[in-house]
Amino acid sequence: MKLLNLRQFTLAVVLTAAARPSYGAFQIVLDPGHGGTDHGAVHSNIKEAELVLKVASKLKVLLEKNPDIQVLMTRVQDRNIALPDRVKFAESHKADLFVSIHANAASDERAKGVEFFFQNNLPPDEESLFLASQENQAVIAANKEAHDDELSKKGDVAAIIEDLHRQNRMMSSLRLTQTLTHTWENDALASQATIKQAPFYVISKTSMPAVLIEVGFLTNPREAKRLLSADYQNDLAQKIYNALVSYKEKVDNSEAKTLN
Ligand SMILES: [Zn+2]
Repeated sequence: MKLLNLRQFTLAVVLTAAARPSYGAFQIVLDPGHGGTDHGAVHSNIKEAELVLKVASKLKVLLEKNPDIQVLMTRVQDRNIALPDRVKFAESHKADLFVSIHANAASDERAKGVEFFFQNNLPPDEESLFLASQENQAVIAANKEAHDDELSKKGDVAAIIEDLHRQNRMMSSLRLTQTLTHTWENDALASQATIKQAPFYVISKTSMPAVLIEVGFLTNPREAKRLLSADYQNDLAQKIYNALVSYKEKVDNSEAKTLN
């Protein structure tokens, strides 16, 4: 038998252990962005915080009907929650998936469509950085120095494990965003569903696979009108639901393969 080197051995252990942090129901944390005094983007008589809570609540209703899924929300009311508390909430429940829901705004009112963000290790493009800085306003580099310090104190094995965890999580997050984009493929808005990467606080600090969905642009008059309609909100929730279920099936299938 060929001996595994440390990195391969660690990879095997991490992939087995990290595939599912919890057993039993698949736990999804929905995170409606903003809330309370933080309205998020406000355009065309729509407050982002209100809109995303509606979409998330509709999605929650769909997920609750699925016996294999347990759904939790970082907020169910219009109230302030700090970004670190959203992350802590997901971590404390050992969630399998973190889905943050937001709505977009742009200086160009022609900008439209759904966007999916996941955290990558590659340098994000400038536009994404700008958007991330808008969504991260509440935190801005808080505790960064302390975190860097803590990392430098860790040993090699810990660093490798952390690196592999990050890679595993990144690939899962990418798979999740691809599944989401796929769900939009047969839609009239297909060409407008894009995958981007940006260091949003909530998707970079959570340890489970995570995605941030921008459901549309409040600054685009046609899209804003559509986003206000309950039918379109239902449609958004249904599409996200379909993608999450499809992602869960992929995870279940790959786990079954690992175990056999
Ligand atoms: Zn937002």
